[in-house]
Amino acid sequence: MLKEETKRIYLSAPHMSGNEQKYIQEAFETNWIAPLGPNVDKFEKAIAETVGVNGAAAVSSGTAAIHLALQLLGVQQGDTVFCSTLTFVASANPILYMNAEPVFIDSEPDTWNMSPKALSRALQEAKGNGKTPKAVIVVNLYGQSAKMDEIMQLCNQYGVPVIEDAAESLGSYYKGKASGTFGAFGVYSFNGNKIITTSGGGMLISSNREAIEKARFLATQARDEAVHYQHSQIGYNYRMSNILAGIGRAQLEVLDERVEKKRAIFDMYQSALAHIKGVAFMPELEETYSNRWLTVMTVEKEQTGVLASEIIVYLNRENIEARPVWKPLHMQPLFQGCTYYKHEENRSVSETLFHSGICLPSGTGMSYEEQQRVIACLLHVLAIPV
Ligand SMILES: *Cc1c(COP(=O)(O)O)cnc(C)c1O
Repeated sequence: MLKEETKRIYLSAPHMSGNEQKYIQEAFETNWIAPLGPNVDKFEKAIAETVGVNGAAAVSSGTAAIHLALQLLGVQQGDTVFCSTLTFVASANPILYMNAEPVFIDSEPDTWNMSPKALSRALQEAKGNGKTPKAVIVVNLYGQSAKMDEIMQLCNQYGVPVIEDAAESLGSYYKGKASGTFGAFGVYSFNGNKIITTSGGGMLISSNREAIEKARFLATQARDEAVHYQHSQIGYNYRMSNILAGIGRAQLEVLDERVEKKRAIFDMYQSALAHIKGVAFMPELEETYSNRWLTVMTVEKEQTGVLASEIIVYLNRENIEARPVWKPLHMQPLFQGCTYYKHEENRSVSETLFHSGICLPSGTGMSYEEQQRVIACLLHVLAIPV
């Protein structure tokens, strides 16, 4: 039974800045209620400036942006595409849209992201089989950047382009450079639970201006330059609406504030709980700056006496939303039979994280009292005197 008297605390609820209505109003005043329009142009420009790239194309979702990136890299039926295994299914679904074959790469313990060791083995074997992948999709989980130096070096060595799935890491940095700007393409998501949101939406970014132009073309039904409607290739209806881009503009203005708040939420959980034996928090790699989109902790049953899954059930009964970390894609029925490269021969890091990880409420709209309620519940279930 859920407790009715307490307000539910969500994992990461949308948090408006207050300026959204102003930009939506602009769209209404000019009757620009359409995909494309001035808000879209301004939102694209603002994102490109914020992260420091030449081009950005606003689209209907992060998933659509990944799909376009694969299309632009010329992925074809039967090609292989490598992808982080510890991620949301949206990272890999577009590989299936292309009728290509995903190969999953394990995490490593320092970032929980793609293991350069596993990637190196996978690339070497692929080359040996005469089938190097057409692309590598690297995910930056929960805001933490992957080991991009090592990953880029390996991919450059084998001549494989990188797509950075930065859906969760807008506002994060790796060695002073914005997360999402390392590969041939970067992808952001503005889904309702992301650090900033347009309710639904995404952005494809690249330093290659021509590629971004091509993405806009593909995302508007691939309409040739002609007065009549003429089409010579497959296109999509993937552009962002001018109204939603207005929300995005206002949200982007408070990105830095949101990152600061997310980090403060993480720090508060960590200082209240990290001393408990068997409890640990998602690391932050040296020289990286995570937006801490979600605070994630791990729990070892041998030491705490309680399973991560039991804690999640308990919190939900207390009207607090908590979730396991993403179920690794190589464990999903959808991807049964796909090749998977572990971090080490007898060590699958992503599976361990899946069994021990808990995503805690991390909404920037959460009050101090609400977070204290979550912490008190955690201390209670871990049998620590409050
Ligand atoms: C949210 C998310 C996506 C997909 O973004 P949508 O905008 O929901 O399509 C892709 N990858 C990761 C890692 C995500 O968290």
